[in-house]
Amino acid sequence: MGTHSFNPSKSYAEELDRNDPLGRFRQEFYLPEGRIYLDGNSLGLLSRRAERSLQQVIAAWRDLGIDGWTEGEQPWFDLSERLGAMMAPLVGADPEEVIVTGSTTVNLHQMVATFYRPRGKRTKILADVLNFPSDIYALQSQLRLHGLDPEEHLVRVPSRDGNTLDEEEIIAAMTDEVALILLPSVLYRSGQLLDIPRLARAARVRGIPIGFDLCHSIGAIPHALSEWEVDFAVWCTYKYLNSGPGGTAGLFVNRKHFGRLPGLAGWFGSDKAKQFDMEHRFTPARTAGAYQIGTPNLLSTAPLIGSLEMFAEAGIERIREKSLRLTRYLMDWAEKELSKYGFALGNPTEDRRRGGHVALIHEEAVRICKALKDEGVIPDFRAPDVIRLAPVALYTSFADVWEAVQRLRRIMEEKSYERYEKKRGVVA
Ligand SMILES: *Cc1c(COP(=O)(O)O)cnc(C)c1O
Repeated sequence: MGTHSFNPSKSYAEELDRNDPLGRFRQEFYLPEGRIYLDGNSLGLLSRRAERSLQQVIAAWRDLGIDGWTEGEQPWFDLSERLGAMMAPLVGADPEEVIVTGSTTVNLHQMVATFYRPRGKRTKILADVLNFPSDIYALQSQLRLHGLDPEEHLVRVPSRDGNTLDEEEIIAAMTDEVALILLPSVLYRSGQLLDIPRLARAARVRGIPIGFDLCHSIGAIPHALSEWEVDFAVWCTYKYLNSGPGGTAGLFVNRKHFGRLPGLAGWFGSDKAKQFDMEHRFTPARTAGAYQIGTPNLLSTAPLIGSLEMFAEAGIERIREKSLRLTRYLMDWAEKELSKYGFALGNPTEDRRRGGHVALIHEEAVRICKALKDEGVIPDFRAPDVIRLAPVALYTSFADVWEAVQRLRRIMEEKSYERYEKKRGVVA
């Protein structure tokens, strides 16, 4: 396991924190009192800056009413475009290639409605068996809208171990029957990071449009979507980007597709100068903004103003570097001290193949998660046997990881998880 050495002392974790160049961001977040929050990959925590920017938009509504669209510190009319430009460095895109809008699932529907053009024998959509259910439901329903049977036309690349995918197998499935490809960047359960540039290249050579769902990589990992010539991407903002529950999502459309008519059109996709001409002839924006549909959800968008400022200050490269060190530290504990209790790692361990969370596999995962929660450690559980632990670069310390592991060791040593029921909660 690598050349680095593992030091189990608490003072070592504290020393890592003292030397952490991103350490100052922790105090900007509301950390739950007495608890260690390792679930930022499901719902990121609130920062004071995100809270302030939400309050600013509420104040503009209070003080300006309708004029808030064009006046005030953050006029609403082009806020989605401005935030798209702020987000562009996180995905490696030009400012006009990104727009903040909708939700992941709605944006995916928009992208499939736009890019899926079945013709002749090219009718299939390629995805994978480990893909997120909502994405799969969207693909299935889009196929049905074309009168096609998802059983036949949705191809899902298998997984050998139930946790990871093999890029070789994905590429082998890019046949001349495939009209569109949708894959995750980082798999939501195991945390595997796919080789996006390689997959995008393989798709391009075969003339198949390819899109990625970045929900589990945005805000944790740098991307270079333009350079990799990815066709489109979608992501949410309430996980690593800390925009709050149901926060407005984002999408990327490669500029080579600008001008392509959106599959699902609405007036907010208009060229901004023409929108209020109120014509029945739609003039789409010549940017990713064209793929907006209706009026933006301002109150769910506002927290991003403050949150994205922090990402600009911290820098995504530095965030990734710290995230890799945090997950490496946690994996060291898993390999050296937790494996004797039956834990195995479900995520790939190489830096270039893992995302922002660690997937601990254990047959008692449900009960262990419940015991962890009662011990003040917030993990999340993914059926049937995965405990996801996400130490988040902007607010999790090495001392947090150290403390969480000690609590987990105690649970295993005392077998206190045996007191819990084996049933998962409604929201796992
Ligand atoms: C979190 C997540 C979603 C959630 O989609 P919503 O439309 O925001 O509910 C979708 N896909 C993936 C891969 C996710 O991780």
